[in-house]
Amino acid sequence: MSKLKDYLVRPGSKVRLKDFPSRDHGRLEEGEGKKEFADLQERMTNLQERLYAEAKQALLVVFQAMDTGGKDSTIRSVLTPLHPTGVRVVSFKAPNETERHHDFLWRVHENTPQLGHIHVFNRSHYEDVLVVRVKRLAPEKRWRSRYEHINQFEELLHDDGTRVVKFFLHISKEYQKERLLKRLKNPAKHWKFNPADLADRKLWDDYQQAYKDALERCSTKHAPWYVIPAETRWYRDLLVARVLVETLESMDPKFPAPTFDPDKIVID
Ligand code: ADP
Repeated sequence: MSKLKDYLVRPGSKVRLKDFPSRDHGRLEEGEGKKEFADLQERMTNLQERLYAEAKQALLVVFQAMDTGGKDSTIRSVLTPLHPTGVRVVSFKAPNETERHHDFLWRVHENTPQLGHIHVFNRSHYEDVLVVRVKRLAPEKRWRSRYEHINQFEELLHDDGTRVVKFFLHISKEYQKERLLKRLKNPAKHWKFNPADLADRKLWDDYQQAYKDALERCSTKHAPWYVIPAETRWYRDLLVARVLVETLESMDPKFPAPTFDPDKIVID
């Protein structure tokens, strides 16, 4: 696969995760891919500056993945060159006491970007139809109604100036095993290993089913999902950067016109 739309979940389409590759390089050599990536980073930096200066639109980027899917490293490599003033990464953990006493979108809404900014969600409101469903943390009736709430919430963001784009970093169960074994062998990575994650691995098929439903029900025109093959890391980063640049270019942020005539300003 080589075109961006090959990785897009077409709104209203049925999803078979097995039809999406978890390992791919889009017929590119790594060197070519890295060159294009550097170029995309430059364009993204330029677009972000415009977005910030214009302050009329915002961008929300959502990352979801199974454990070892590479959310942290993708966020780091793709966003590093951006100006930190206009970017924030928000990580969602299990809700605390206060959050549990509100609706599931309460903590999410207050972390959406203000106009001019880019926010990146490392996990998101989708946990409320993933882990919550798989681990039965809420009754079915409760999580079933959330797909529609999510669609309406994302549409609201879109209509009020925030573009939403969502990435599922897709890996195979075998690849996860390799990554977990690597983590165990490297003391510098032990902090990333949580024996409790093995319980999620046992529920792999249930999670894949929950992901399938979330992708199918919540990939919309105003907030699309992309299934990114995440096992070849340089290609994963390249695809994410392509989508972000394409999205920002379609938003077409512009520097505001000056409120003064630069030719008439005298600086002593
Ligand atoms: P990560 O794996 O993203 O690097 P952690 O190891 O701290 O970060 O994991 C965060 C945990 O929080 C995950 O197990 C995730 O399923 C859980 N979590 C996030 N949102 C929710 C939610 N709404 N309800 C229950 N658990 C959640």
